[in-house]
Amino acid sequence: MTPTTPDQALAELRAGNRRFVTGAPRHPNQDAGHRAAVADGQHPFAVIVGCSDSRLAAEIIFDRGLGDLFVVRTAGHTVGPEVLGSVEYAVTVLGTPLVVVLGHDSCGAVQAAREAVSTGTPPAGHLGAVVDAVVPSLRRAAAEGVEDIDAIVDIHIAQTVEAMLANSAVLAAAVAAGRCAVTGMSYRLSAGEARTVATVPAGAPPAPPAQIDRAAPTVVG
Ligand SMILES: [Zn+2]
Repeated sequence: MTPTTPDQALAELRAGNRRFVTGAPRHPNQDAGHRAAVADGQHPFAVIVGCSDSRLAAEIIFDRGLGDLFVVRTAGHTVGPEVLGSVEYAVTVLGTPLVVVLGHDSCGAVQAAREAVSTGTPPAGHLGAVVDAVVPSLRRAAAEGVEDIDAIVDIHIAQTVEAMLANSAVLAAAVAAGRCAVTGMSYRLSAGEARTVATVPAGAPPAPPAQIDRAAPTVVG
């Protein structure tokens, strides 16, 4: 059964991540029969706005297959207009009930931004746009006295959740109407675990602050 509610979708992602972590993936929906079945239309149950990091492939770490996840990836999961438009397409046209911001420890984009700020030297080319998008998260971490790079990553994930809702009236309206939820998840490269660090539940009023829970234990499910 394809999940149709935010809670069902999140439960399915957690179950798939648990299979991946424990070395018991089922690789669902990757066979030729399913490929043919979804060729005429897609109904993905989650949008994943993830970092482009090569070790963060959504279908692998959540043990899913074709037609399950609508995936948008940029370095440092930075969200510009094209990313927001892609998310809005999935939520409004495809009816996807869950949006996940997926970050990870040792994120190179966050490290590059921190280095650019500390040295006062912005990177060349369009990488500067990535750094610029991460800087507000660095400022927030500094204001909260957070220096650990992976704790900063968790703040950046929560900041990304809030930025998406603040900059997309369409997404905020879908959340307010109870049609979808937005969740921030932090992935551990070595362990393979994705834990929830920020949540904006379905039915939340437009542009709410995310509930940040950085003290949550590193447990899947
Ligand atoms: Zn990254």
